[in-house]
Amino acid sequence: MTKPTKDISSLLHLVRPNIRRLEAYRSARSEFDLPAEIFLDANENPFDNGVNRYPDPLQRKLKEVLAGYKNQPVERFFLGNGSDEVLDVIVRTFCEPGKDQIIISPPTYGMYGVIASVNDVGIKEVQLREDFTPDVNGILETAGDRTKLLILTSPNNPTGNTIPRETIIQLLENFPGIVVVDEAYIDFCPDKSVVSLLDNYPNLIVTQTLSKAWGMAGLRIGMALAHPVLVEIFNKVKPPYNIGSLAQEKAIELLADRQRFAKNREAIRREREKLTAFLQSLGMVEEVFPSEANFVSARFRNADEVYRELLNHGIVVRNRSRQPLCRNCLRITVGTEKEMRRLRNALSRMDEKFKKSGKFSGKTFDL
Ligand SMILES: *Cc1c(COP(=O)(O)O)cnc(C)c1O
Repeated sequence: MTKPTKDISSLLHLVRPNIRRLEAYRSARSEFDLPAEIFLDANENPFDNGVNRYPDPLQRKLKEVLAGYKNQPVERFFLGNGSDEVLDVIVRTFCEPGKDQIIISPPTYGMYGVIASVNDVGIKEVQLREDFTPDVNGILETAGDRTKLLILTSPNNPTGNTIPRETIIQLLENFPGIVVVDEAYIDFCPDKSVVSLLDNYPNLIVTQTLSKAWGMAGLRIGMALAHPVLVEIFNKVKPPYNIGSLAQEKAIELLADRQRFAKNREAIRREREKLTAFLQSLGMVEEVFPSEANFVSARFRNADEVYRELLNHGIVVRNRSRQPLCRNCLRITVGTEKEMRRLRNALSRMDEKFKKSGKFSGKTFDL
């Protein structure tokens, strides 16, 4: 294990000066959270309907559960309304609008660019290499004085591959700002998580979510695992009651059912492998990208047409053809066994037509 080259105090200059100076907003519930008999401090409605009280602003019970699952100290957890809010808080904490930039490596998740643009933060793109791993030298050459964040995604969306640990260590050692690793899909391949690197690298922030493997996209609960000093700063930046009480309760309830989680995850992995092998067998598919997540991307000979044909079968996939390195690529989420059977049937029929005539739906493939 490499020795840490940075300590947290040497990183605080990366935080925007106005945020460093910010006094935390003291909500009624954060100022007084001892037991009392009568709460007349938060202008809540006294008549009980299950949700008349404000939620715990620091989501302590939920964090305890998550800390147990992830075997990490509870002080490292910051929770947001989906990891989209977590990423927004991270960008707003470090990046001065109109001045600072982030680096992202397309093809990747589209929200990073949206969040940066909304906050008037510059975006420098350093494309992934042909094998979809980060271009370390390109990133380090691109980073300037005002480049606060590097956002990497592992497993990456839409390519499905993870980033080698050594590559992330190399970046943590040499990138002058904060390295954010978005692990939204990590519960499908927990061995690949870089969370353990937090012990040595305070310049690392790992984001995860309950939306994917945990099946709670509708609750909107995402998390950052980071140095406790950074977590405290994020808590000052976020809106005080950013996760509703029903979402917190439901997450705790669903997290308790480890068996269902394991069973569903296994089913998704099994269907993913079947889908990968099936796509590889199709004449109209040029290349399938091996995935460690719950989707498979493949390069078709004519993605736009396959996309439209699938819609005619009532099946919608994601057309990623316009992303760099993803020409003619469709990203297919792994569904249930039955859904996957229907998908395979539809694709088989198209492929038959393709094999016979090099075309379907009247249009010739451009080979
Ligand atoms: C789906 C996804 C997210 C969004 O997660 P939420 O917690 O639902 O906001 C974040 N990052 C990546 C790469 C994703 O694909």
